[in-house]
Amino acid sequence: MTDIKVKEIEDLIKIISKLPGLGSKSAKRIVLKLINNREELIKPLTNTLAQVYKNVVRCKICGNLKSANSNCICSSKKYDQICVVENLADMFVIESAGIYKGHYHILGGTLPSFENKSTENGLLIESLVNRVKKSSIKEVILATSASIEGETTSHYIADSLKDTNVKITRLAKGVPVGGEIEFLDDGTLYSAFKNRSSVVND
Ligand SMILES: [Zn+2]
Repeated sequence: MTDIKVKEIEDLIKIISKLPGLGSKSAKRIVLKLINNREELIKPLTNTLAQVYKNVVRCKICGNLKSANSNCICSSKKYDQICVVENLADMFVIESAGIYKGHYHILGGTLPSFENKSTENGLLIESLVNRVKKSSIKEVILATSASIEGETTSHYIADSLKDTNVKITRLAKGVPVGGEIEFLDDGTLYSAFKNRSSVVND
């Protein structure tokens, strides 16, 4: 592939090669495809990106993505399980494995393992407790990763929920230590869900 010396195109290649799974070679191929299809690809892509930038926000209650103009899926009352994950990528993995059909709560990260845990660092933990208190949820499934931070976060949440009557479960230890949910295969994830166990507060 010959080198392209147009600033606009070089800028675009730089941005696209930051996307997951793409190096500069595939970025160049994508950009060439775009340029050869201005009307069919560049135009709708530009419009769609602008819409996403303008209208897609994180819900302040459950952390999921929502359109700024409509209600989040979490405002529907019809669910009795919440699966708590660290980030959107984890939710996508669990969703695409097809092993769980309930609602999600996306924390936005984990607590640090050693620092003062009273600072939740913008994690949506208080809003999780409020969700549980305000609804008829029967089970909270803690699906944070098997790292120290993931365990710390999971204990902190279980502790925060101890005044509610909700059943709290944790994914089974089939998840390798340090294992991030995002990188688990469907089989491991399935057995971790199936063999999840109750968290008992001390
Ligand atoms: Zn929401």
